[in-house]
Formats: sequence, structure tokens, C-alpha cells
Amino acid sequence: MGFCRVNETSLKAQATGTPISAGLVEQLKAEIVRKLAYSLGKNPTVAQAHDWLTAGILAARDHMVDVWHRTTRESYETGRKRVYYLSLEFLIGRSFADALNNLGLTGPMAQAMRELGVDLNAIETLEPDAALGNGGLGRLAACYMEAMASTGVPALGYGIRYDHGLFKQRIDGGKQVEVPEDWLSFRNPWEFERRESAYKIGFGGTVVSTDTAGEVVWTPGETVFAVAYDTPIIGWRGRDATTLRLWRARAMHPLSLDAFNQGDLVGAVAERNRAEAISKVLYPNDSTPAGQELRLRQEFFFTSASLQDLVRRHYRQFGTLTTLPDKVAIQLNDTHPALAVAELMRLLIDQHGLQWEEAWPLTQAAISYTNHTLLPEALETWPVALMERLLPRHMQIIFGINARFLDGVRRAPGGDTADLSKLSIIDESHGRRVRMAHLAFVGSHAVNGVSALHSNLMQETVFAPLNAIFPGRITNVTNGITPRRWLLGANPGLTQLVSEVCGEDISDDIEKIRGLAAHAGDASVQERAAAIRGENKRKLAQIIRQETGVVVDPSALFDVQIKRIHEYKRQLLNILETIALYDAMRSEPYRDWAPRLKIFAGKAASNYGTAKSIINLINDVAAVVNNDITTRDRLKVVFLPNYNVSLAEVIIPAADLSEQISTAGMEASGTGNMKFALNGAITIGTLDGANIEIGERVGEKNIVIFGKTAEQVEEARRNPRPTHEVIEATPHLEGVLDAVAGGSYSPREPGRYAGLVDGLRTNDWFMVLNDFESYRLAQRRVDALWADQSTWWKMSLTNTAHCGWFSADRAIREYAERIWHVPAGYAAKA
Ligand SMILES: *Cc1c(COP(=O)(O)O)cnc(C)c1O
Repeated sequence: MGFCRVNETSLKAQATGTPISAGLVEQLKAEIVRKLAYSLGKNPTVAQAHDWLTAGILAARDHMVDVWHRTTRESYETGRKRVYYLSLEFLIGRSFADALNNLGLTGPMAQAMRELGVDLNAIETLEPDAALGNGGLGRLAACYMEAMASTGVPALGYGIRYDHGLFKQRIDGGKQVEVPEDWLSFRNPWEFERRESAYKIGFGGTVVSTDTAGEVVWTPGETVFAVAYDTPIIGWRGRDATTLRLWRARAMHPLSLDAFNQGDLVGAVAERNRAEAISKVLYPNDSTPAGQELRLRQEFFFTSASLQDLVRRHYRQFGTLTTLPDKVAIQLNDTHPALAVAELMRLLIDQHGLQWEEAWPLTQAAISYTNHTLLPEALETWPVALMERLLPRHMQIIFGINARFLDGVRRAPGGDTADLSKLSIIDESHGRRVRMAHLAFVGSHAVNGVSALHSNLMQETVFAPLNAIFPGRITNVTNGITPRRWLLGANPGLTQLVSEVCGEDISDDIEKIRGLAAHAGDASVQERAAAIRGENKRKLAQIIRQETGVVVDPSALFDVQIKRIHEYKRQLLNILETIALYDAMRSEPYRDWAPRLKIFAGKAASNYGTAKSIINLINDVAAVVNNDITTRDRLKVVFLPNYNVSLAEVIIPAADLSEQISTAGMEASGTGNMKFALNGAITIGTLDGANIEIGERVGEKNIVIFGKTAEQVEEARRNPRPTHEVIEATPHLEGVLDAVAGGSYSPREPGRYAGLVDGLRTNDWFMVLNDFESYRLAQRRVDALWADQSTWWKMSLTNTAHCGWFSADRAIREYAERIWHVPAGYAAKA
């Protein structure tokens, strides 16, 4: 029979107690075996683990298709307004468990597989993560696609079907090594190729104005095809599905026979290679824009394909484009698709003959933009010269938008004093560049930040001049996470407990989880929560042992920082404080130290030297600490390689302490912070991003806050205190810095961290030195809380109880009501 014996105990606890229908199990078995035979050409006796997985996925997909078609047909027939979510990134992870969960098929599928001799949990881990994103921004898009399906908001997500997603990370001798990711190498059983949905995407060439009606003709110098691949995303209880439509680049002429016949093999496929490069690989940058021409080609490629697609669909159905904003809401996830503003204008004017004055209000009414960062160095700009060469017609349109916009400002009351250079879409101070955020802002009816603090800072800083011209355009929608994946799927034990306490309908309305608050002090509930966490920690401990060889104590405090490695996220602050703790433990070995496990995971952008150096330091510190017998039972440090969605799903339910320690004012929102708090980890964090709102909801007693506020950071940057003074005034810090700089953790290369420490001593831009003491003291407060376990578990349960609000369903309802003006089909149960 099958390849692996069934492990009875490994079956996931079912969140709902509904009995499994024997008829459904029989049906699934028949479907799986049929897929095995007729889609994979295998019979059960020779099927491999991956064959069972594919057969299971294909069977599950069939269960989604009818719902999907019905959702699409209904929204078509009723002419309902639809959301088009444009994102260069979708960080999806695995889909099988999530789809089964939403279809209510987890139990029946496990049973069916078991009766076929297969362990569902074992094959699920063979599904590759779809890692078409870098971090929070891409994961947000994935959560929102699922939440729109779950709340009944008709939606289509548009992105790029990268052949290679985010690189895989190996740790070799303590250093990050990047390995190409290859999720499509064994095909993708979720997707449907749509050959009929192919669009021509032009680049370069010439623009000619015909004298007569001022008509403009753009003749691109180069054209590629965008071909659609559709994946259904099923919502909770299988009621609705959204579509993720990803574009693949194909050459118009895959082979030049002329070149081939002359023996030029490379030339024969040159056009093909150039075209297909567009959807070849995801840029591994996070919080820094990629300046290369290929990136701009990617942005235009998927934006143009998506807009051609939605304009064609609208025109076919309604026969006019003047109703576009009544039926279409286009959401730009950051500025990567900001060319949508110019592309929609081009389609309306050049292809459909509308006047500029007609096209502009339609464009603005249809488009809205989500800003994800205020860091000036992270705001996208493109050289005008590059845009003129690559997208000559769009550059003309952008100039046209800008001229009319600035003209309007000038003529408005008080316009003679406005600083047009700050408002202009063109930045003239850095060699003429297009400010994509300004283009998106001017072309939208609503612009949102992703946390209360971030939206306020938008109004006060980068967008202050635009905000003065368009008061009210900036609004806030605090990010959210899907509770299906991040609680129900990732933590079935805790789900079971809260369902018993709050009722099973928490799965339909996660905010009902607040009922847990009244029981946060109950010893019996606390004990159950501790036992569930303990089980999650034992599972993680096994993975840590497999991946790093380090044996850890599951009863230690699991202190976790997992996210992209970045100076502003301050993994460096964490590891420096870890060194101080290590020193303290060694100098007072008989004190009653709370055992701690420091867990790190995260990728560094391949060209980000400082971030890579921080990874190296964490691993070097781990090597010293983990081999020191004086701290053996008290402190361990591990760096888990290849952070991704699937790893997050096992780490987060096992976390006691959630590190959210960014320099205040720099993390727009964070979503990792929400996942942890919902799963009952205590946050140690700064007053940054959504940490502030988490604190407001859980109460200040139930979160550990430290460090400078955003305002204080700004003040400290305006009037920096000499770093040597900061160091002298901070206990332990000098010793820690000297040890790192002097090679105590890198004896074979003593100068390895000289530059890293020198950077801190030169300029403490990220407030690592300035916040060190405050952070260290906050960690000692954590020790004290941990020592009192009943207080700890009360805090933990209180966190879970008050974090239902951070559901993506709540966020989607806010977008639907305030920005998109589409009704959600499924209200949260009152
Ligand atoms: C949630 C998530 C993120 C975002 O984490 P932050 O801590 O908010 O930066 C990044 N990567 C993965 C895989 C995630 O699941």
C-alpha cells in the first residue's frame, strides 16, 4: 500500500466537533484515487508521497471550483462592484491545509487519506511554499485575498507568476547563503492557465500626434505577451472564492528561424529570453526599492495586463467606460503598481476615445493607494529619462497629470505661496525623477496608511504638502491577519480551548474571542493554555534540533524575533542585549535566572551587507553561548534558517515572548506582532506601528513597552547626543560593544564585526545604543513576569482575548465600506 504508515496521534485536532460523514470520506477516497489514475497516471500501489499530495490537492480543488464559478457568475449577473487588488507580491505559503480547513474537509480528508494508508500531515509538508513575496507587504496581500473570500467581497488579485520566488536561505559557517527557489519545478496543481486571457504589453518605441483631433498613437518598439494563470482562493466555510490572477511573460516570437538557420542559436532565442526575464524572478528587496530597469518592466507588465483585463471585462459587460468606478475598485498595494494611474488614462483616452477631462475623474474614482513606508530612501522614484525611453506615452501622460495638478494648485486661493517643488510628481532635485508615491496619491480618491501612528505620520511628514491640498484623502486602515491560517490552522489546540470557552462561532466572528477575557484568571483555563503551548514548544524544539543540532529545553521562555533582517527592526539590539544577559549570567552563576531560548529567523536582502553581518553575529554568538557549560541550562540562542510562512506557522504558536522592537516611527504597522499576540505571546516592543494599537486593546499591564517614542526618536536625530556619551551612561554597553568589536565572538576573524560596531559608534541612527538600557530593563521585567506563571498566563489569555480585532476580516470591511464602497456579502455575526 501507500508509502507511509498512518500516525494516529498526528492527526490534527478538529476545531469543530462535527462528526465526519462516512459518505463524504468514501467520496473523497474515490476522488483521490481517480485523480491518481487519470491525472497522474499512477495506481495506488506505486504512488509516491508527492503523488498522493497532488491527487489530494486536485480533489480539493474540484470542491472549490463550483463555488468559485458560482461566485464569479453571481457577481457578473448582479453587476456587483468588484475589487481588483494589484500587488507585486503575494506571500502565500502552502495552500492545501488552508483550503481544506475553509472547505470543512480537514477531518474527512485526513480520514480518507488514512484509509488509503497515507498520513495527511506528512504529505502536507511536501507542498512547496508559494513565496512570491518578501515579507509583510506580500503576506498582507495573501491574507486579504482569503479575507475577501471569507467576507464575501467579490475580488480579483493581480500579480506576477514568478518562476522563482524569494530565495531559499541556508546558513553556512554562520553566514547566509542564497539558493534559488523553484516552486514551479513540479508544476503547480492549484492553477489554471488561461490562454485566451493574453494581452500585448508594449515597451519603448515612438509616440506620434496626428494633427487632426490631437489623437496620439504609441507604436511600441518591443511587445511581449502577458498570459493569465488563475488560482481560486476559497473563503471560510467554502461560501465564496476569490481569484488570484498571476501574469506570465511570453515572447511574441519564441524562436527566430532566420537566426537559427544562420547557425545563431543564441540569437534565435534572444527575444524569448528577454521577454521571459520579466516574470523570471522576484526581486529580493525589502524596504529598499530595486532601481533596475527590469524591475520597472515588471511593474508596468503586470499593471498594464491587469488594467487591460479589467477594462475589457467592464466594457464587454456594460458597453461603456463612464460607469467604471461604479463597478470597479482598484487597490494599489504600495507604489509598485502606481503606473496604473497613467495606464488607465491611456486606455480611456487612446483606446476608448474619452477626453482627458472625462477620463481623469473616472481614474481617480476607481483607484486607491496603500502606503507602506515613509522612509525617504524606500520611496520609489524612477528617472524621467528611463521612463521616457521605456514608456514614452506614459511619461507624456504623467507630465499632463502633473501640469494640470500644479496649475490647479497655483490658481487655488493661496496657491501663489505653495511650494510646488514639494508637491510635484517630478522631483527636480535629484536629476529629474518620477515620484511614484505622488503619482499614486494624486491619481487616487483615497490613500491609506496601515496603522494609526503610520497614517498620522503620513499626514505630518512625507505627505504633509499633498495632505494640505487634499485634506481628508489620507485615511487609516490598520492591517489585519487572517485568523483561519494564523489561529485555526496554526494552533488547533488553542482554537479548541477558545471554542470551548467562547463558543464555536469564534470561527465565524473571531472578535467573539473576547469572551476569553473573563476567564483569563481561571486556573483551569490557564493550565490548559500552558499545556497547549508546551506541546507546541516540544514540536518546535524538535525542528530546532533537526535544523540546527541544538538541543533546547521546552520549558524555557521562548523569546522569538522572526521577520526580515533589517537595521530598523533591530535584531542587533536584541543580540547585543543577549550578550549582556550572557555576561550577567556568567558573573552571577548562582542567581535564579529564568531559562531563556532566544529564537531568531529571517532573510537579509542579498545586497544588504549590514543585515547579513547581523545574521553572522547572531550565529557566532549562538556558537559561543550554546557551548558554554556555565549557562547551559539557562541560555540558548538559535537562528532557524529559511524563514517563510510555513516556518512562521510552527514558531508563532510556540512563542512566549514576541519581539517587536523596531525604532519607533519606522515600522509602518507590522503584522507579525498581531499573529503572536493572537496566539497568546506577550509583546516586548516599542511604541511603533500597530504595537500601539495592540497595547491599547490588551491594556498597558499586558504588554511590555520600552524605548523612545517616534517623537523622541525624531528629536534625538535632530539633536544627536554624542554616542560615546550614550555608551558611558549605559551600564554594560561598553563591554558588550568591545567584546563584539574585538572578536570575542569571532576569534578566527577578530575584525569581523569591527565595521558593524564602528557604524553604531559613529551614528546611532536606529537608536540601538540610545534604547539599549530601556530594552535591557524591559527584559528584566519580563523575567519577573515569567517567574509568576499565573500572572503570565493571565496576560497571555488577555492578549488572545483582545486581538480578534486584528483580523483581516475587520480590515477588509473597513476598506469595503470606506474606500471601495462595496458591500461585504457576509457580515460578522452580531
Ligand atoms: C507575517 C509575516 C511577515 C511580516 O512580519 P513582521 O514581523 O510584521 O515584519 C514576514 N514574513 C512572513 C513569512 C510572515 O508570515
